[in-house]
Amino acid sequence: MPETAVTDPLQPIRWKMNQMLDRVKRARQSGHYFYLQPIQEFKGARVKVKGRGEMIMFASYCYLDLLGHPYIDAAAQAAIRQYSSGTHGVRILAGTLPLHNQLEHKIAAFKGAEEAIVFSSGYVTNLSVVSTLCGRNDVVVSDKLNHASIVDGCLLSRAQFVRFRHNDMESLERVLFKAGGDTFKLVVADAVFSMDGDIINLPEVVRLCRKYGALLMIDEAHSLGVLGETGHGIEEHFGLQDGVDIHMGTLSKTIPSVGGYVAGKQGLIEFLKHTARAFVFSAALPPAQTAAAKASFEVIEQEPERIHCLRRNIDVFIGGLHERGFDTLNSETAIIPVICGRDEQAMEMARRCQDQGLFVLPIVPPAVPEGSSRLRVNVTAGHTLADLDYALGVLGTAGKELGVI
Ligand SMILES: *Cc1c(COP(=O)(O)O)cnc(C)c1O
Repeated sequence: MPETAVTDPLQPIRWKMNQMLDRVKRARQSGHYFYLQPIQEFKGARVKVKGRGEMIMFASYCYLDLLGHPYIDAAAQAAIRQYSSGTHGVRILAGTLPLHNQLEHKIAAFKGAEEAIVFSSGYVTNLSVVSTLCGRNDVVVSDKLNHASIVDGCLLSRAQFVRFRHNDMESLERVLFKAGGDTFKLVVADAVFSMDGDIINLPEVVRLCRKYGALLMIDEAHSLGVLGETGHGIEEHFGLQDGVDIHMGTLSKTIPSVGGYVAGKQGLIEFLKHTARAFVFSAALPPAQTAAAKASFEVIEQEPERIHCLRRNIDVFIGGLHERGFDTLNSETAIIPVICGRDEQAMEMARRCQDQGLFVLPIVPPAVPEGSSRLRVNVTAGHTLADLDYALGVLGTAGKELGVI
């Protein structure tokens, strides 16, 4: 090997780093950088943010306001006392505690499934489950607006990856028809879409999956605890008994812990427990997080008033936005997009909200299509009617001044 001059090994990718770094720098300079702000204290929807003081949180996924619940905290503390802070590694070898099995039983019962498996995050659950089930000769069918973790799972699987138009059942049927009868087909969709807050047309998706012999996986990251009279999720919302084969969800949103799960038929779960690489090759959830997750499912069932309060807040907030002339797409859930249009409009709306004590974040391309830059406002059971009223006032004034409404 001839000796060459010492060069910067990052040089070949410097262009893409600079692109992002410049964008961040410009946002910081113009006062439009709202990311990575440390939350110093919280009490329900009230948070103390470093350098900003008290704010009302409108960007939380803690939909039922379970973070800080004394029963859940006590379960986590008891688990630390009993089992300490970690495990002996992966579940399949020395990492399983009785708590893990209890949590999986609880999740399976909650979702009306035979068994469940938990992973160390929701992201990794999607990545691992999709890529374990699908391989080179298979077809994986995904809604165009599905979460990044599903997209990454589809790519990792090396199956034929086909997307259908967002929540468009004719498009889904065309894709399934073309895939052919003998091929293994997995259809994956979010129950509630994380940027738009709308709900997948589950009855029709189930009908089409049955008609074309496809397996159906639904990601309930934003519907667990949110949809259905008792918060059991999307099937309860539509009054469906079965039809979803793989019930996926996260333990980091409504459930104030960390981890992800899949619930389904016994054989399927047992297969995953011995083959899904993120389960077999990645450490078990720590005891405290496992106990907290289990306790949270119990609280959801014991305190249904939280779900009613969330439902009321969603209705009040969406109603108030419509009265003021805002476009919230087809959201009927706790994720409420407030469409602003151009990037600068969304950024400036966010700045005005933040300056007036609302922790609200803008979403801009490439996360959403060009021209549909927005605020994404998350309502939780922790908001009071006065909080919602105040936020509607701030949004209304800013929206008028910036020509959004
Ligand atoms: C947040 C989210 C995930 C990932 O869950 P984590 O537990 O945060 O890794 C997966 N799917 C959807 C739809 C999500 O919104």
